[in-house]
Order: sequence, then C-alpha cells, then structure tokens
Amino acid sequence: MEIAELNVAALRKMLDRREISAVELTNYYLDRIAQLDPDFRAFITVSREQALRMASAADQKLATGEGATALTGIPVAVKDNICTNGIRTTCASRLLADFTPIFDATVVAKLKQVGAVLLGKTNLDEFAMGSSTKESAYGLTPNPWDRRHVSGGSSSGSAVAVATGMVPLALGSDTGGSIRQPAAFCGVWGLKPTYGRVSRYGLVPYAPSLDQIGPIGRSTEDIFLLDRCIAGYDPLDPTSLPEQAAAAGIVTGSLRGLKVGLPRELFGDSLAMGVKERVMAVARELAAAGCILTELSLPSLQYALPTYYLLAYAEASSSMARYDGVRHGKRACSGSDVTGMMTATRQELGTEVKRRILLGTYFLGKDCYDDYYVRAQQVRTWMKADFAAAFTECDLLLSPTTATPAFTIDEEALDERALALTECYTVAANLTGIPALTFPCGFLNHLPVGAQLMAPAGAEQRLFQVASHWEAATKRQTRCAQGDQKGAFYEL
Ligand code: GLN
Repeated sequence: MEIAELNVAALRKMLDRREISAVELTNYYLDRIAQLDPDFRAFITVSREQALRMASAADQKLATGEGATALTGIPVAVKDNICTNGIRTTCASRLLADFTPIFDATVVAKLKQVGAVLLGKTNLDEFAMGSSTKESAYGLTPNPWDRRHVSGGSSSGSAVAVATGMVPLALGSDTGGSIRQPAAFCGVWGLKPTYGRVSRYGLVPYAPSLDQIGPIGRSTEDIFLLDRCIAGYDPLDPTSLPEQAAAAGIVTGSLRGLKVGLPRELFGDSLAMGVKERVMAVARELAAAGCILTELSLPSLQYALPTYYLLAYAEASSSMARYDGVRHGKRACSGSDVTGMMTATRQELGTEVKRRILLGTYFLGKDCYDDYYVRAQQVRTWMKADFAAAFTECDLLLSPTTATPAFTIDEEALDERALALTECYTVAANLTGIPALTFPCGFLNHLPVGAQLMAPAGAEQRLFQVASHWEAATKRQTRCAQGDQKGAFYEL
C-alpha cells in the first residue's frame, strides 16, 4: 500500500521499526503536496524548512525514546486560523496576508511538545465564515472525488489534505459544522469536541461561544490520537474545562444495550433519499451489534439554523471589530482621516464577512436586541434542555452529517438553500456544546456520504467506540482521492 494511504498506527510502526525516518516521511508528504496541491490549493502555506527541522528533532526523540508518543514524527497540517509562531496565519483574508504570530496556539504547542511535524497551514473560508472555500482570498479548494464539486467548508483545506493523502492528520475548527461538513464531503473522519475540552487559545475567533478546534483524519483511531494530544485544561482559555483523565485507547467492548436515538427532525424531507439509505444502513449495523434503536423527537431543532445565524453573526460582528487598521492586521493607506483609514481597511474584507458584520451589528442594535439576540439565547437554553432530555432516553444520537453529498461549484453559487441544507444537521452540537463525530458511510453518485454521531458533553469515548465498530464491521479501506475517481469500492 502507498504511504499516503496508511493510517497513523501503520506509520507509527514504520517509524518505530526504523523502516523510515521522520525526515524521509516528511519529505514524502512534501513531495506529494508539490505534486497534488496545484490542483487543490489545500495549503495556503507549506512550512517546508520548519517541517524538516521538526522532523529531524523527532528522529532524535525517537532515537533516545525520551518523550516519544503516538504522534512523534507524524506530519500534521493546521487550519490557517490557528496561530503558529513564525509561520504566517492568514485566516484566508487579505487583511492578515502578512500576519506572522509571535506565539503558538495551545494546540500547536502541544503538537510540538510531542514531536509531531507541522507541514503547513490549510485553506478555509475567510475567518471560517462559509461552507465551500468560495470565501477564501486564496481561491476555492475543489472536492478530491470530483473537482466540479465543492469540498465543503470552512476547514476544507484540512479535509482535502487528509483525503488526498497530502498529510495523515489535520486540525480544523468548527463553529457550526466546519470540521464535520468538509470531512463528510471528502470522505474522512472529523470530530468537534465538547466545548471547552480543547483550548481555543490562539484560535482566531469567529463566534467564541461556538468555536472549537478538532481533528480530521483517515480513521477513527487517527482522530482519537490527535484529539487525545490536544485536549486538556488550559489556563490561557477562560472557557477551558477541568482536566479529564486521558483515555489510553478506544473502548472496544460490546455495543449490546447501547441506546441509539434517531431524531425524527434530522430524517425529514430535505434529506436526499440515498443519504438516508446509507445512514440507515449504519443504524441497521448497530442494531445487529446489539444497540437499541429509538426514534425520538427534538422539537428545538427546527429553530437551530436561525438561532445559529443570529448568535454567530452577533458574535462575529464583535470578533471582527479589531480589524480596523489601528493595531492589528493590514492598514489601508488611503483615507484622509482615521475614519477614512478604518473604512478603507475594512473594505478589504470579503463580501460574506462584511455581510455577517452588518447583520450581527443589526441584531445587537438597541431596537433588535431583545427580539433577536435575547430570543436566540432563550432558544439556545431550550435546545440544551431538549438535548439533555433526549439523552435520558438514549446514549447517543445518529443522523446524517449533511442532507446531500457535496454540491457542484456552480450550484453553490446559485442556490443559498443548498448552503443552508449543509448546516442544519451540524449547528445543534455547537449551540449545545456537545461532541459530534462524522465518519464516512458510503458513496452516492461517486461522492462520499457522512454519518454523524452526537453524545452528551464529555462522552467522546462513546462516539469513538461506535465509529470504530462501524469501521471494523465494514472493513473500510482508506484509499486516497485524487480528483475524479469513482468511489465504487466504498459502496455498501
Ligand atoms: N458553514 C457555517 C458558517 O458559514 C459554519 C462555519 C464554521 O463552523 N466555522 O457559519
């Protein structure tokens, strides 16, 4: 099998047996990026020199065995809204084109500590606002299974880099589905952890009460390993949760008696028939393994999307206030006075970011605050109670990750509804703070379909257990997508 198709456990064995060195492995992926990325633009910056330096340090670590862990010597890519000391962090925005942080985000510091190799920074919608990378100042990243389709967003660079085997693991961020939707569209695994489990220190904020960093990988075990490395209490993040004991591995026991809830609202009419069939095939497999399937209702879900838009845009309008040309980011030279300079600077933001700032500012205005912002917070509280009630009836929830596979690039430009349909399954986990995992469950018209599992806050282990059962039961191969292949091998 090609190295690009190997998971982290297989790479680990090769490194530990000295069949390959971390430097050789890094060079392999750098070559693959040079070969494939001109077609995908998954990377905004490839940090070649730093990567090779980190790789040779990893080789030394492996030679002495001191401080070596599962990720020592393993290349990882990082979404370009996560700060990296000495490597520019653009957020795919013209305003931050020359911003080079002088500190590492906590997740990056943790990766460095274990000797992982940072390969580069991946493409996204500007400031993580979008679902297709149409909003990136660095161009759209197309779908690796068919380049006429989008790869999703906003963490599409990370999802595509993993799906094409340009890197085995990547970090994304998820405010309303930005890890899970592109992972589902590209046929890979992604996790949005419980809010507060992974430090947000050094993540450029979009909507801080919803933002969360998480892993994207080529198997359940791979995202488990990256999640375990980045999770944990961080005094630098005021919303960080107290330390939980790190699990040594994925629980692999029997699933007998585990109650799996199927929320009626997430299997409605807007769902493509083929997607429903594939997710129901997962449900049948879980039932065969002894899980108890229960259909249930989560009435608050019908308000999830408007609530998300209201709160995310309101928070975005505040998060984006710092880009005024005074202290941070680019300053436009035109404009005769301070207001003129600020106006000219903010003109450089993309249309979608400006739209969200305007709407968010409007929602927070004196005349709208109670009717929009306060009401949305009330719905959010109700939604948390609604999910808590559902979790008294079941241990976890199964649903599609998106209503359809990846839409075409033109279709996306035409149809706002297509965009909304990609988000209505994912935003609830952000609004309620619970963990959600997406895994591939088949193909529809040669494009991947993702299934989503959600569990109560802190119950990530349950998600890993069920997803790895499905993976083992379907004996999925981890082939790489490189443009226009048929995914027939993947059919159930
Ligand atoms: N696609 C959603 C949006 O545009 C989610 C973005 C995200 O999770 N960062 O807001």
